[in-house]
Amino acid sequence: MKKIILPILILLAAVAILSAQNPQRCGFDELLEDRKERFPELVRKTNEIEDFTQNWITQNAFKANAREGEIITIPVVVHVVYTKEEENISDLLIQSQIEVINEDFRMMNNNVQSIPEEFKSITADTEIEFCLASLSPDGLPSTGITRTKTDVECIADIFTVKDGPKPRLFYDHLGGKDAWDTDSYLNIWAADYCGTVLGIATSPPVLTPEEDGVVINYKYFGNNCESASSYPYHLGRTATHEIGHYLNLFHPWSDCDSPEGDFVEDTPWQEEPYEGCPSHPQNSCNSNDLFMNFMNYTDDACMSMFTNGQKMRMLATLDGPRKGLKESTGCILLQEKFPFDDDAIVVYPNPAQHCIHIDFNATIDGDVIVELKDAMGKLIFRDIESSRSFRSIDANALSNGVYFVTFEAGKRRITKKVLIAK
Ligand SMILES: [Zn+2]
Repeated sequence: MKKIILPILILLAAVAILSAQNPQRCGFDELLEDRKERFPELVRKTNEIEDFTQNWITQNAFKANAREGEIITIPVVVHVVYTKEEENISDLLIQSQIEVINEDFRMMNNNVQSIPEEFKSITADTEIEFCLASLSPDGLPSTGITRTKTDVECIADIFTVKDGPKPRLFYDHLGGKDAWDTDSYLNIWAADYCGTVLGIATSPPVLTPEEDGVVINYKYFGNNCESASSYPYHLGRTATHEIGHYLNLFHPWSDCDSPEGDFVEDTPWQEEPYEGCPSHPQNSCNSNDLFMNFMNYTDDACMSMFTNGQKMRMLATLDGPRKGLKESTGCILLQEKFPFDDDAIVVYPNPAQHCIHIDFNATIDGDVIVELKDAMGKLIFRDIESSRSFRSIDANALSNGVYFVTFEAGKRRITKKVLIAK
């Protein structure tokens, strides 16, 4: 017996070490399989949503490359469910997570420059943003964060249920935390997986609203460069990826001859997930692959983009099965903190030569997105700053002509015309 047991123990130890070193990027596919078993109607309802999505995309094709200026803000509630104090992640870390997803979804991530030239034209500003809910479901002011101490160890570990008990994480009476109205809020639970999964999400259709949302292993929550144990998934992109699923995106790989793949027109066929940090180009199914896509499995630092096609699926979802998020009042107080009208911003001199100066005549809480475009709509400059710190754009390299400076804060967008004449 000993002769047999010893190799098994070595094997188990090796597996444990291996799995400790190789966290599973995402549990979405397993959860989907599990949901299909639990809910026989899921396949039919998924097909109905797919028909709606493809129709919506056809009817709204003009939006794929456009930036309409209509920003959708999704109210988020983060439920921290913890046993040990280290799992009780800070407000600061949670705010950093919201910043990361806002930058990633608005194409303002600082590694946008690393996107290979051939993919730049399909890179999307999804025009989707997120806020920590400022109003709770009963209309009271809120931080958008709940904290629950639980006695249940590894409460997030049960991402497949089969015929067993309900997943405890989603229920107050089982030691977890009840969701806020999932029609109106994106619920994100931050909790401990004792396994190695970084995160999971549910995609539409919503069959169990009380379990609808995203779960992130607390170790991979937020922009946490201080945490060596989170590396290389330390920059908050587990949430970017999982929210992609929540808004009906799938992984971009499938058999090369699969008829549909990920149902997205502009993502190249890709045979396997990419991990680590590959260098461009990587090729499969006779095309160069989008290993840097947020829906791939690459390291956080090496993910950088959604595509226009993925944006369209997400916008369709927000006009369809997740329409309630678009109509939610969960961020209403926050939006009212950004009142400014055309007169609040002065751009001078006009015509300008070397510098375009900007004066904000109103106190605008939070950040302002400033963009400069030429008459053809080509983006020349983009920055995100507080209204107090932003003062000028260098115009020395610009040729003569008409330009447009756009300011955006909250749900307001103002455009000013400026002439460069040297
Ligand atoms: Zn995934």
